[in-house]
Amino acid sequence: MKNKRLVCIPGPTPVARCIQDQMARETVAFGDPDFVRDYKQLIEDLKSIFDCDGEAFPLAGTGTLAMEMAIANNTKSGDNVLIVSHGYFGDRFIDLCERKGLHVDIIGCEWGTVVSPAEIEKKLSEKEYSAITVTHVDTATGVAAPIKEIGDVVKKFENTIFIVDGVCATAAEEEYMGDMGIDVLLTGSQKAFGVAPGLFLVMASKKSLERRASLGTIPEFYCDYEKWLPVMENPAKYFATPAINLIWAMKESVEMIKREGVQNRYDRHKKNARAMQAAVESLGLKVLAEKEHRAVTLSNIIYMDGVDDAQFRNILMEEGIIVAGGLAAYAGKMFRLGHMGNIDTHDMVSTVATIERALHRVGKHDDMGKAVGVLMSELMK
Ligand SMILES: *Cc1c(COP(=O)(O)O)cnc(C)c1O
Repeated sequence: MKNKRLVCIPGPTPVARCIQDQMARETVAFGDPDFVRDYKQLIEDLKSIFDCDGEAFPLAGTGTLAMEMAIANNTKSGDNVLIVSHGYFGDRFIDLCERKGLHVDIIGCEWGTVVSPAEIEKKLSEKEYSAITVTHVDTATGVAAPIKEIGDVVKKFENTIFIVDGVCATAAEEEYMGDMGIDVLLTGSQKAFGVAPGLFLVMASKKSLERRASLGTIPEFYCDYEKWLPVMENPAKYFATPAINLIWAMKESVEMIKREGVQNRYDRHKKNARAMQAAVESLGLKVLAEKEHRAVTLSNIIYMDGVDDAQFRNILMEEGIIVAGGLAAYAGKMFRLGHMGNIDTHDMVSTVATIERALHRVGKHDDMGKAVGVLMSELMK
């Protein structure tokens, strides 16, 4: 008999039954009063959970479109933008910004480490930047940027908009826009919200809305804040058809967050991640990210010598979990394991047990149950 397949890539993540049920509902008119009420409720809840004093835009599209919306509404051609890149998705902003005719400066660092807030402060002091982009968790490296500390730096530069790519972080890593000075927080539905792919979320602070207002007409159409602001205010209005069933699914995900308590959710992710990381390290595998900068949403795990990546991940799939491969210099040397969103203790234990079975089958592990033991001891602390 085949094992069930658990999706442990860094998005899409497992979709809880109650969220699936929302996607299976009969689709109604976008002006249906019940849907309008639900959409409005979702928008208000998101603003409240993430401490957003501006507007929340949950719209059809993916995380990449959310990145584009952030740049579109906060910069104009010829502006300077500072891109802090911790890996693959940080780099995605470079092409995106250059196509808009922005002058781009990039601060990067070795994969697995973070750019220091002091270095960012020095760079921001050199010239006027209209925006700075930081990826909260780059899935290529499994590193979490120190968003709060960076926010404290950016607050000193009143003409700079702080854009945070939270696609692999939001709803799992702590993010309070007001407290952390975040002006634009963006994500996709398929990562820590645990909804199917297809929806993105941009949350804009009051400062970001003011920036948009100062720009006049912008070249972008679908992702212009001003096209959507009247709809977010009153979802009975039409600009472009909302993804009705995905909006319901996102609303259900937010209901789950409210039931759990957002701070409890952040704490759960931290505990699970540290337990998972200790468990895999007990097997002789290495975690790429430096200990103090590890994400809670995924772990990027480097093989011991002599493991063939393709063979290992095939065996893992046979045993019942799907993980992602390493990127760039780490292709073939690492696998990426997502542990974010609506996963429970059963999922965590099964995942570690599956890794043990797969390592055993490639001849790299005998002491069965060792990592599961470490995981459970950590979870019970
Ligand atoms: C997944 C991801 C993206 C891209 O999101 P899509 O929904 O695939 O467009 C952007 N940034 C980060 C950090 C991601 O993890």
